[in-house]
Amino acid sequence: MKISDILKDNKVTVSFEVFPPKQWDRIENTKAVVREMSKANPAFMSVTYGAAGTASGFTQEIANEIKKDNITPLSHLTCLTSTKDKIHEVVSELKENGIENILALRGDIPEGFVFPDKQYYKYAYQLINDIKEMGDFCIGAACYPEIHPESKNRVEDIEHLKLKVDCGAQFLTSQMFFDNEIFLNFVEMCRIKGIEVPIVAGIMPVTNVRVIKRSLELSNCSLPKKFSKIMERFGEDDKSMLQAGIIYATEQIIDLMANGINNIHIYTMNKPEVASEIMRGLSDIINE
Ligand code: FAD
Repeated sequence: MKISDILKDNKVTVSFEVFPPKQWDRIENTKAVVREMSKANPAFMSVTYGAAGTASGFTQEIANEIKKDNITPLSHLTCLTSTKDKIHEVVSELKENGIENILALRGDIPEGFVFPDKQYYKYAYQLINDIKEMGDFCIGAACYPEIHPESKNRVEDIEHLKLKVDCGAQFLTSQMFFDNEIFLNFVEMCRIKGIEVPIVAGIMPVTNVRVIKRSLELSNCSLPKKFSKIMERFGEDDKSMLQAGIIYATEQIIDLMANGINNIHIYTMNKPEVASEIMRGLSDIINE
């Protein structure tokens, strides 16, 4: 099923993100994670793509597993470090495997990276343009409520985002954020600037401060005082932080929904127990 169909009519949807393993010998463990998470019946499940694009087969394998479990898969695809030929190969494989949804991304710039020649993509909008030519895919793109770290300002950031939508992105998924006001203002700004596609809110349940620290530093996202206090108080105790992180994420989702945001994507960090606990906390809300 196309994600654009899942997101239409502004129904409440909760979807999950998983990441593939770094080593092939861990693939069965990740498949088991997917099977466990499928039981919570997410609207769709996305699977990330290695930054350097070296293990594209892992992403495909996990996307196929999601499909086997009767959940719609969304395959991420980054383009910065792969030739256009390689990307065409990956997209053809996705098509052969019946994967209909692609989150088209540029990928982060590795340290010391020099932009190569025309055989490569420089921005995600170029990838979106090409995927559109390669088949009948539903294409999504990334967005940044607190501005992408390379953007000079909000205006420039939203102009570039609009370019991705104009090129064919049919929905957007946001970077994680912990302050709902920031996300709500961002959505309003997007609407003012003529971005009309669904904007899915990316929610990260922080259940282990040590694991998440690096992502927090890189992501540009601000931490509200309430959340910093929770991390300060419970960060050293794994069990307490797990409980507090799940409750904070659940409350964040309920507040977003109360403010009219119906599409939520949970960065599960491959933890089925976290995903299912949040779904349990929302059970009547999702089915209302
Ligand atoms: P782009 O949209 O190309 O933007 C990158 C920068 O270029 C921005 O600052 C933008 O403003 C600027 N820009 C865009 N167009 C132009 C233009 N025409 N002229 C000048 N500047 C321009 N990374 C992974 O490696 N694997 C994943 O699976 C993955 N999944 C992600 C999922 C989500 C929901 C999000 C939010 C991010 C994900 N990332 C992933 C990280 C992502 O690859 C990085 O944030 C990357 O730095 C930017 O990717 P992008 O697709 O947003 O790039």
